[in-house]
Amino acid sequence: LKPLFLNQTQNMTRFSVYRGTFVHSTWETPLQILEDALLGVDEGGKIAFIGEGKDIKQLSQKFGFNLSEVIQLAQHEFFMPGMVDTHIHASQYSYAGTALDLPLLQWLNTYTFPVEAQFDNLEFARKVYTQVVKRTLRNGTTTACYFATIHTDASLLLGQLANDFGQRALVGKVCMDVNDCVKNYRETSKDSEEETGRFIKELLKKEYPLVRPVVTPRFAVTCTEPLLKQLAAIARNNSVHIQSHISENVDEVELVKKLFPDSTSYTDVYHKCNLLTNKTVMAHGCHLSDKELAVFRETGTSLAHCPNSNLSLCSGLLDVRNVLKHKVKVGLGTDVAGGYSASMIDAVRRTLDTSKILSIQNPNYETLTFEEVFRLATLGGSQALSLDEQTGNFQVGKHFDALRVNVAVPEGPIDLIQPEEPKILLEKFLNLGDDRNIVEVFVAGRKVVPFTD
Ligand SMILES: [Zn+2]
Repeated sequence: LKPLFLNQTQNMTRFSVYRGTFVHSTWETPLQILEDALLGVDEGGKIAFIGEGKDIKQLSQKFGFNLSEVIQLAQHEFFMPGMVDTHIHASQYSYAGTALDLPLLQWLNTYTFPVEAQFDNLEFARKVYTQVVKRTLRNGTTTACYFATIHTDASLLLGQLANDFGQRALVGKVCMDVNDCVKNYRETSKDSEEETGRFIKELLKKEYPLVRPVVTPRFAVTCTEPLLKQLAAIARNNSVHIQSHISENVDEVELVKKLFPDSTSYTDVYHKCNLLTNKTVMAHGCHLSDKELAVFRETGTSLAHCPNSNLSLCSGLLDVRNVLKHKVKVGLGTDVAGGYSASMIDAVRRTLDTSKILSIQNPNYETLTFEEVFRLATLGGSQALSLDEQTGNFQVGKHFDALRVNVAVPEGPIDLIQPEEPKILLEKFLNLGDDRNIVEVFVAGRKVVPFTD
């Protein structure tokens, strides 16, 4: 009997099983609460089953786990899906929290380009990129869509660091063949094209399970039309994502009109260059017309709403309700360092603020609810990055990307006066909480926070 027994255990999948409250979104409802639920994660990091706590005995027999191994959450704890930052400049993290006194185009020339130019120094890059990956993970960003700089090797290093710390990431080597203000921060069109090819090839060769390249023309102002077209072809040939910026501020929109007189709109510039695909995410879009949103919808292009940045640089107010009405995919982004906070919890709050500002301006405006914004930060973001088959909510077959939130963590920012229901716990966390409340972070089943050496 002994060999048979051994064989059976060898063939048996080992599950990590969690019991307690799970909150997440579906497309039917922005907030679904599963109380006393039981969730099993297989060795591949995927959700193998979700059941009810009362059925624990049957589930343990069916899936073969020991009751003593089940991890039980406390009453003031819950699991929520990991958050998806659809737009963040890893390279700008060093000056996050400063330099917020100029509008976009001056801000780029004065603060951004001189700092990004320093990333030809790999030691500097390692320092900044390590910090930003750790900071975002600790704040619950399980998936990040990163802009790096024009430097291929430093961008590859960012991919390596995301992989090492276990973050799901799209990483982009920035492309820009136009820049007359900071002369040492520009590439030739040929270099931009070739280095993008090398970046994609070398990153894919590493076979990191959760890190993918994303073709990254900075924006229409810093790219020639031939380069934009070449980059679209590279993305298509490699079946990879595309990211850029659009319609962030009014001066920028006017400048694009002058630079591309043959295009009917900012959206048309990218559309003509074949950059709008169902794997494209565009940041901002504050000043897009309804007609342009229709093109987003038709092409499957998504928007990254970055409210902290839009307010901090006085760029504009994105009407997310209108975007949703047009059935355009939309997620949230921190846009560090135009946005001063690297935390997606901040992005949730600023999204609510922006929606309330629009409601002040128009009393008939339908303000976003906190449940809807919770969905934007999780499921919406995963859809915006076309990663919703892997992550975004708790569904059997998806990866277990999750935050274990303790609302009443000792010395934490929230005082619980009495026991509260899960919906109140989530609302308090989103409005009052911070990284102290995020006691554990999981990506594809692996516990990545607290950090291990
Ligand atoms: Zn940006």
